[in-house]
Amino acid sequence: MKWKQIIKIFILVLIILFLSFFIIRLFSSRHLDDLHPSIPCDEELIKKSDYLAVIPKYDNESISNNKEWCNYIKEFNKSMIMHGVYHDYNEFDTLRNFNYIQEGRNIFFDCFGFNPTEFKSPQLALSQDNKKILKEEFNFKIHTKFTQIFHKVYHCNDSGLFPNWVEDLL
Ligand SMILES: [Zn+2]
Repeated sequence: MKWKQIIKIFILVLIILFLSFFIIRLFSSRHLDDLHPSIPCDEELIKKSDYLAVIPKYDNESISNNKEWCNYIKEFNKSMIMHGVYHDYNEFDTLRNFNYIQEGRNIFFDCFGFNPTEFKSPQLALSQDNKKILKEEFNFKIHTKFTQIFHKVYHCNDSGLFPNWVEDLL
């Protein structure tokens, strides 16, 4: 084969990959990350998302202290994800024990009246040890870096790796 042909095939493969990626993201569920009463969130973002990733205790403020907010979020009737406990930077790179995670789960329960079954760590940083605890002791379904790229992921404060408008576009 000549170089020109090889390059043509290479470009074609890239285009097909990009299009598949684009189509998967178009039809897969949409996530909205970083929900908490202290973080202002555009209601339109909540409405167009399928999954809401809630931070149980941000800035040392538990979501369960704001029942009005809990009911407001519940009424959208979306799938819910527990998004860390405190949402510190790379929170789940450091080993977190059972009680640490349980605190977040209890706060989530007090707010919404049910236990979270899905988990996404802040900045998607997750050590193997923490992953094991979350899976084996809490039975969480875990959202990872890998699964994240196949969804449009918005952020309440628009602080994601890509801004919300890029997520909309791609
Ligand atoms: Zn986050």
